[in-house]
Amino acid sequence: MREAESGRFHVFDTQRLETIPRGALGTWVLLQPRAPGLQGARVLSIPSPPFGSVTLYDRDGPLSTTSPTTLDPDLKAHGRIAFALPQAWSSTAPILLKFEHTDNLNTPVRFVLATRAEFRRVDTLWIVMASASLAVMLAMGLVALCFSSMLGDTTFAWYAAYVCSYAGLQAVQTGFVFQPLHLAFIQPIALSIGSALTAIAMISAVLFMVRFCDLRQHAPWLRRLLLALAGMMTMLATLQVFDLPITREIMHALFNPLLALCSGLMVLAGSVALLRGSRPALFFLFGWLPLLVLTALTSIQVSGGLAHVEWLNEASLAAGAIEALVLAIGLADRSLTMRRDHHIARELADKDPLTGVLNRRGWIDAAQKHMQDTQQTHAILFMDLDHFKTLNDELGHGAGDQALIAMAGNLATELRPQDLLGRFGGEEFVALLSGTDSNNALLVAQRLCRRLHRLEIPLDHRGNLLTVSIGLATRRPNDTLSSLVERADAAMYTAKSRGRNRVVDERQVETARRPVLRPSRAAPDMTDTDPPRRSEQSV
Ligand code: GH3
Ligand code: MG
Ligand code: MG
Repeated sequence: MREAESGRFHVFDTQRLETIPRGALGTWVLLQPRAPGLQGARVLSIPSPPFGSVTLYDRDGPLSTTSPTTLDPDLKAHGRIAFALPQAWSSTAPILLKFEHTDNLNTPVRFVLATRAEFRRVDTLWIVMASASLAVMLAMGLVALCFSSMLGDTTFAWYAAYVCSYAGLQAVQTGFVFQPLHLAFIQPIALSIGSALTAIAMISAVLFMVRFCDLRQHAPWLRRLLLALAGMMTMLATLQVFDLPITREIMHALFNPLLALCSGLMVLAGSVALLRGSRPALFFLFGWLPLLVLTALTSIQVSGGLAHVEWLNEASLAAGAIEALVLAIGLADRSLTMRRDHHIARELADKDPLTGVLNRRGWIDAAQKHMQDTQQTHAILFMDLDHFKTLNDELGHGAGDQALIAMAGNLATELRPQDLLGRFGGEEFVALLSGTDSNNALLVAQRLCRRLHRLEIPLDHRGNLLTVSIGLATRRPNDTLSSLVERADAAMYTAKSRGRNRVVDERQVETARRPVLRPSRAAPDMTDTDPPRRSEQSV
């Protein structure tokens, strides 16, 4: 005290968050409250506590010692260490403190002198805000972890790793792990845990961001650079395990510049991705920028600026929670967009681009689902345009395409909405009629046959019109989709051989085949020139 009174102490502004010089025997700090001073019970607190211990002295010796793990049980401070000053002390009497340095006492220190009531109010607000922010981050992280395992999308896993390690880092840095969590064992390794969590948070943030904003597509060079930096950070973090003086030196020299470089590059990459059309990049920038600005402001404060801004640490906590929420909404938005794109791609893959009806793959998929209902009757019409090659050869491919479009459009109009129409091949169409027995299916097929003829689509220059041949098969107990289609196809071929422009029901094919089994009878003529039988003729 005498040394201080004789002016031999270094004087600093308590508002400036100065780093207290380290000394092997500890460092004395003498606080001089300004007149007129606070009246009544007073509390001196040190927010964002350093990891070392602090002892309050009067002229006779030490009064009480506190550290983040051994807090004053009466005051129950959170996110700060605090001393209840003796009531007998005058409001402007100097306050003598001694900082016992541990290796990791290197954070800037601020002192707050307040009435007990004000201290309680600020402390309560802090614990509510810190608990809510950490809870939001952890909850988002856990939900993302579940989504990651359910969807098999590692973007969610990197997000979870980032959010949870950032929450852990904040919990250590603010002393939340000590009070209220009482995890005192962390104290000796708090600094190592802090830098390990910083490294994990940064590396996972890079890996998350690279996928989330799709940098592979939007900013491939920045992606490579970011991944290289993340790799370097992983190496640095691994080196720290050996805890040699040289590795500590390297860590000290490189770690913070790497962090700053990575953060800046991520903003640059996010902006480039946004400009090139990545929607998630917008969510990323919204979430990431406030944290980056706060980190920059804290650095300014540590180096002496922004002396009176007292809310930066609390703001970093809240910004972490807000970022977790914004990114979670971004992830949900990204998943919805991916699902919609997948749906559109699936629809395109299942549709025939020329006629707009289902293609062979889409039709088979849908038909197989329809066929699962074994209670329903199912009939298949297999339709093949007659002499279509002639139409192409004589009137051109364009006319052929128009004929296919007209055919598909008319089929779709004629069928019911629940009937499944598809283009099976070049000029072949199939329709699956559910809940329709063979007699009704025959009527439908005959209608279709007539309808196409009535469209009067020219087939050639000689005045012939486009027609269709249709084979009909109805489901039997052991039928699969392919056996049913095969029989309808066979019936269609019979229709072709019996003169085209007609419908043949598989039952008629079988009736017609029976005589073939009997050698005494002549097999029916199956050539194109064979005149159609009345019973098979539909047109
Ligand atoms: P048939 O009465 O025996 O069925 O004779 P066809 O000429 O209809 O049968 P073929 O299998 O010999 O010819 C089918 C033609 O369909 C050949 C092919 O060029 C044409 N084709 C297939 N897909 C398309 C298409 O998308 N557009 C056009 N314009 N023609 C197509
Ligand atoms: Mg064909
Ligand atoms: Mg044909």
